[in-house]
Amino acid sequence: MGNEERITWKTGEILKKYGVSLRKSLGQNFLIDPNMVKKIAESAHLESEDGVIEIGPGVGVLTAELAKRAKKVVAVEIDGRLIPILSDIFRDWKSIRIIHGDILKINLHEITSFLLQETKRVHVVANLPYYVTTPILMRLLEDKLPLTSIVVMVQREVADRIAAEPGGKEYGALSIACQYFAKVEKVLQVPKEVFYPKPEVDSTVIRLMLYAFPPVRVEEENLFFQVVRASFANRRKTLFNNLRSAFPELEQNLSSLLSEGGIDPKRRGETLTIQEFSTLSNLIWRERVKKRGEKLLYE
Ligand code: SAM
Repeated sequence: MGNEERITWKTGEILKKYGVSLRKSLGQNFLIDPNMVKKIAESAHLESEDGVIEIGPGVGVLTAELAKRAKKVVAVEIDGRLIPILSDIFRDWKSIRIIHGDILKINLHEITSFLLQETKRVHVVANLPYYVTTPILMRLLEDKLPLTSIVVMVQREVADRIAAEPGGKEYGALSIACQYFAKVEKVLQVPKEVFYPKPEVDSTVIRLMLYAFPPVRVEEENLFFQVVRASFANRRKTLFNNLRSAFPELEQNLSSLLSEGGIDPKRRGETLTIQEFSTLSNLIWRERVKKRGEKLLYE
């Protein structure tokens, strides 16, 4: 059976009724399997007092399942053609609020502090548009929103990168950013057949349980991420060479800093644990403080 013939469930009926054709440029691969939609909603472990931010509700199939389980759902959709459809479908659902906007631009703190003020915990749940997965995840994590979890469907290969351990080619700045802010878990493998139109890649639902405090102590978060990015700038280069290019002012002290941190300068960035990145960035931070002529208490 072809993918087109399979869209007999709600998604297909709604798209047909409103005459909307899906746009690849907006990452519009909609879910057409009711069981999968339920499974995704269940994997968020929502409680009746919880609030949800949904990114890209599409025609609302996941939105409805989330609203059945939570106290309130705020769904942010960029495509103006879908807004009247969503408003129509959810006219009588008091617990659903549809917002027309770009998740990368709207003020998310306004949502958590006003629209979801009366909810106990806040979760983000979404079948993400794949063309902006990384910027969306980075924004959710770096904005330091009061979130309990982020449960999102992403391209399988991106899920592998997010959950990767040190040592492999999948491990990189995205793995470290996600694992610095949250405990990462793959919760569901999703075949391409449950989408319309059928994408070229399989998908995975991942759950990020956000930490109250990061698992490692970092003196300056910006510097930590700068060190991480620099270490992966050229994967064929040694850690020493990558760091030397990014921090030329440290060249004289780089070898001694690495040796003080117990890190072999010939290693590649992809072999360092988050703990080692934090040690390294704290040593660089201390070096910069000294260079500025500020006095360190213990010296
Ligand atoms: N939730 C629906 C489903 O599972 O069937 C649709 C998921 S589809 C993969 C991604 C959705 O995100 C689309 O509705 C698309 O229009 C929307 N979208 C794309 N970019 C967006 C952005 N920057 N902000 C908000 N929504 C966006």
